Amino acid sequence: MATVVVATGNPGKLKEMNTYLAELGWTLVLKPDALDVEETGTTFLENARLKASVVAKATGQWAIADDSGLSVDALDGAPGIYSARYGNTDADRIARLLNALEKAPDRTASFACAIALARPDGTIALETEGYCPGEIAPAPKGSGGFGYDPIFYVPSAGKTFAEMTAEEKERLSHRGVAFAQLMPALRAIAIA
Ligand code: IMP
Repeated sequence: MATVVVATGNPGKLKEMNTYLAELGWTLVLKPDALDVEETGTTFLENARLKASVVAKATGQWAIADDSGLSVDALDGAPGIYSARYGNTDADRIARLLNALEKAPDRTASFACAIALARPDGTIALETEGYCPGEIAPAPKGSGGFGYDPIFYVPSAGKTFAEMTAEEKERLSHRGVAFAQLMPALRAIAIA
């Protein structure tokens, strides 16, 4: 059975990838703890490529990576690739974002998720980027999900990510869209 390394140290991400990729029958494993990849890219896609490529080369196995974040129009795309570093905790990050937008009339924003799959030699076999357009809610709402979910309002659904069921978020989210785009190519690829 094909083994693919998930270029993350986060077991939560491994679990999520397992859900999206279940039908492929791959064995997904976490990257070695000691292998840290610095996210020096300037876009989500560059960071996903970088993580997949470095982990594939270091382990000599196929590797898959994702990179995601929230870009707010009134903040010129911030926090963007710096979404994880925008504060120390989810609550800090949410408070900082709501503060930064206090007087902004335009609250449109977009979540992005880039995914890259690298061959054992580090070259990129497949990549894609999925988006979910939305707005930053005036205040947190809902208790599901993680990260910025309570303040990310999706007009087409009439609720925030945190108010959605896991299945609903999986369908609408930037990550769900990205994996759906990638699935036909992933099904066709032969991983030894
Ligand atoms: P990374 O892709 O693990 O680097 O995460 C980037 C940042 O974006 C983290 O702060 C996450 O909390 C946030 N983020 C990514 N996807 C989502 C999501 O679906 N909901 C809420 N926050 C997210």
